Amino acid sequence: MTTMLWMLTSRKDTKTAYRRQFLGVILGICLITASSCSVQEEHEPVPESTPEVTETIPAEDYRIFAGKKVHLGMGTVLWTADAGGNMLQAGTLTQDYEADIRQDASGKYLALADCSFFADGAEMTDSLRWMQHRCELTPNGHTVTTDGTYHLQERDGREIALITHTDTYDVYAEPCADDPRYGIRFNGQLAYIPEAEIASVSGEVRKQGAEKLPVLMYHFFYSEADGGTRKDTNHVEAGELDEQLDWLEQNGYTTLSMEEVLCFMQGRSNIPEKSIVITIDDGDPTVHQYAYPVIREHNMHAVLFLITGWAGQSPQNYDFWEMREDGLELQSHGFLTHQGGCPGMGHGGRLLCMDHDEGVADTRMSFDTADGGFVYCYPFGDYNENARGILRDAGTEMAFTTDSGMIRPGMDLLALPRIRVTGGAGLQRFIQSIGQ
Ligand SMILES: [Zn+2]
Repeated sequence: MTTMLWMLTSRKDTKTAYRRQFLGVILGICLITASSCSVQEEHEPVPESTPEVTETIPAEDYRIFAGKKVHLGMGTVLWTADAGGNMLQAGTLTQDYEADIRQDASGKYLALADCSFFADGAEMTDSLRWMQHRCELTPNGHTVTTDGTYHLQERDGREIALITHTDTYDVYAEPCADDPRYGIRFNGQLAYIPEAEIASVSGEVRKQGAEKLPVLMYHFFYSEADGGTRKDTNHVEAGELDEQLDWLEQNGYTTLSMEEVLCFMQGRSNIPEKSIVITIDDGDPTVHQYAYPVIREHNMHAVLFLITGWAGQSPQNYDFWEMREDGLELQSHGFLTHQGGCPGMGHGGRLLCMDHDEGVADTRMSFDTADGGFVYCYPFGDYNENARGILRDAGTEMAFTTDSGMIRPGMDLLALPRIRVTGGAGLQRFIQSIGQ
């Protein structure tokens, strides 16, 4: 509860600073993967009399950071408690990191949530971010013990920390041919350790949870209360969306991020039995106006396939980065490929006959603009060998079409179907469409 209160107040306090920092800065922002996880491990209380520390502020005062998200700069030392409760240096953050701190922290060293590490309260400052770390994958039964030195990485290989201490983790993602790393949880988020830095593996892998996954496809929204009407079935009324998300919530559904979908599709992770993905195409202003408040209200995760070349321009000049903090992940719907150019082919989408190198450059630009994007949505649902070749060479890891169906491991990752949400079709049809 304290965390929630803090997030609400902090959101107001930091919004101006946040906007200053983020608005207009499209390239090169660190994307901290979203997440919300419970604390797994219990620690011995840390004695106040830890060695070699010169305290200028009473340790008590660092409790202001308990239960909060804090900023830790690159180079911050991570500590761990030995059996006697003494603090030992365990590693170093190799990037600036927004860390969630446990509620019950006490003393000068505050425990990072959902992992075995501590940081010195003197090195913490309030974070300008409020995005919740999340990891909805379920542990697969394997436990790994690391070498005495190992790296913690993000999905894209960027290093989070260098650890000089042997640790044991539950596994959330097995290594696979495309990614020879184990996925574990660090501070509530999915993090990866190279297989070569694992000393031993124990336990049995359990295949459990859902075997197929519905990926919902939305486009535009409107509100009858604001005088709006349904122009076509791609327009979903705000109350209708609310009813659908209410139903998903009441029926125990978990909304997944694209990182989690990729782990599932690579056959390396278990997901909850009732899992679903919400995707929204284009990034029309009605997403911000009508869908964003409903998704935020339900504390769900959604993926916005953004026409990135239009971001920041009229009529798209609303705050994507703010929406992202509230769980609307940004992925690519092309930079400037959401237009015609190939008449007589499919719906005529430009990607179908575009020059290869130009297409690769456009796709890479769209991923950069989405700030760490790796998933593509074909404009107009148009795809062929030319389009796939462009995406492949641009490093696309998954691509979605407008073909209809559920996704399951083993499918072609560059031609994944979805389930269209038809505006005005009623709740029963929505429920049937996701296989219930
Ligand atoms: Zn589109």
